[in-house]
Amino acid sequence: MFSLEEKTQILNYINGELVAPSSNLFLSNTNPATGKTIGEIPDSDETDIDAATRAAAAAFPSWSKMQPEERFAILLKISELLLENLNTFAYAESIDSGKTLSAATAIDIPRAAQNFRFFASSALQFSSESHYLNGDSINYTLRQPLGVVGCISPWNLPLYLFTWKIAPALAAGCTVVAKPSEVTPLTAYLLSQVCQEAGLPAGVLNIVHGLGAKVGNAMSIHRDIKAISFTGSTTTGRIIAQKAAPLFKKLSFELGGKNPTVIFDDCNWENMLDTTVRSSFNNLGQICLCGSRIFIQKSIYDKFKTAFLTKVEALKVGNPLDKSSNLGAIVSTIQYDKVLSYIALAKEEGGKILCGGHAITMEGDCAEGKFIAPTVIENLAYDCRVNQEEIFGPVVTLTPFDSEEEVLMMANSTEYGLCTILWTENLSRAMRMSVQLQSGIVWVNDWMKRDLRTPFGGKKDSGVGREGGWEAIRFFTDAKNVSITFEH
Ligand code: NAD
Repeated sequence: MFSLEEKTQILNYINGELVAPSSNLFLSNTNPATGKTIGEIPDSDETDIDAATRAAAAAFPSWSKMQPEERFAILLKISELLLENLNTFAYAESIDSGKTLSAATAIDIPRAAQNFRFFASSALQFSSESHYLNGDSINYTLRQPLGVVGCISPWNLPLYLFTWKIAPALAAGCTVVAKPSEVTPLTAYLLSQVCQEAGLPAGVLNIVHGLGAKVGNAMSIHRDIKAISFTGSTTTGRIIAQKAAPLFKKLSFELGGKNPTVIFDDCNWENMLDTTVRSSFNNLGQICLCGSRIFIQKSIYDKFKTAFLTKVEALKVGNPLDKSSNLGAIVSTIQYDKVLSYIALAKEEGGKILCGGHAITMEGDCAEGKFIAPTVIENLAYDCRVNQEEIFGPVVTLTPFDSEEEVLMMANSTEYGLCTILWTENLSRAMRMSVQLQSGIVWVNDWMKRDLRTPFGGKKDSGVGREGGWEAIRFFTDAKNVSITFEH
């Protein structure tokens, strides 16, 4: 069992060892709910990325040739150890990110374990295609692991998204250089200790901590890193693309969103209402799949507004470690300032704040924490900045609509296209709209129902490529066609 010290000095995980950065410089790590320092993280640079890449390259031949059964067993062991240490991991995730301990315990860490379990089994079951032609030839596809690959992840679902990339890369036979967000590094550090205990061979996974502009940039331009799987903002995605594209790295980008929730008057009211509160404010709206623009058919607009506000006002913002808190702290000062600036902008753009709209000052342990009340705004044009730009916080807008055509136009009006949440009992309408919605994922009458086999990703500025299931394994492999002609 692992335990956390009061202050954790995080180390890089390179070639199986926990090591200080080559610069020996560290950055401080803060708990956003208390404002207190909870440890230090390596301020790594290109020297550390180079060491990690060399270790990964040296580990690649034996890892890629290892029998799938053996890879499966190691990845499964990692999954089991994550669950054995659930409480430590969940506590670490909560104090690092400000999310509630209950969410980290029920969602984040179990899902990280599930990622390893799911992709462990894919190591056993992956197969490739063959194409038989005219009775005298056959083509078969060899899918070979790419080599050393880079995985870069954000702060909102720290271990959940970090492992969502690492697990398929390892299952496919790649070796990995990975960088968690510098804002939430703690569970990635604990993961390196789990990997040691699980017997993951040295160099197969290397975790380098530090700033995006240094560590992430060094990964994007390192010639021996063959692919970058990135989840984060659209702005950072563009920067990585500019650096990595000239080197012809394979790229998978899961980027920002501004997802619409579309509610028709024939919806299942109770399901819609409860789920819309979750899809708006789960993890303080800091989930790329949260719906931040809620479109409601005019006939039920007032009824929805009243019922929704009653539920949102009942959400308790508080100490993330307290079981009774529904919502915790905003992850960082930067994010806190950004959310408040968008609330101010909403007022300038003519928005009416229906609830929230302000920071919250706590007493006691959390007096220095960053808290914002869940905020609901109406009376904004669908094409104003607040309705077009990603806020990534506890802020949603309400907009009435008349017709299917009108709401489709408004839903599709942003540069983003990650997911849509659609509420209607009319099957034809749901199917018709699903075809026309410009998003990579459509949930009809539900939200965040995840089947890890399905393609996951966004259209337009929300991303390039798809994660999940075989899509992820294919991303981390190269297809080679072998054509064989035979004699009769
Ligand atoms: P971010 O882009 O600031 O950072 C993401 C990661 O990129 C971090 O590890 C960061 O250190 C690194 N990074 C920063 N600059 C870099 C650079 N120049 N080169 C290489 N790496 C660099 O994003 P964030 O603030 O951590 O996360 C929030 C964003 O992530 C939101 O836009 C959200 O929508 C998005 N997100 C998308 C998905 C999805 O699946 N589409 C999931 C979660 C979060």
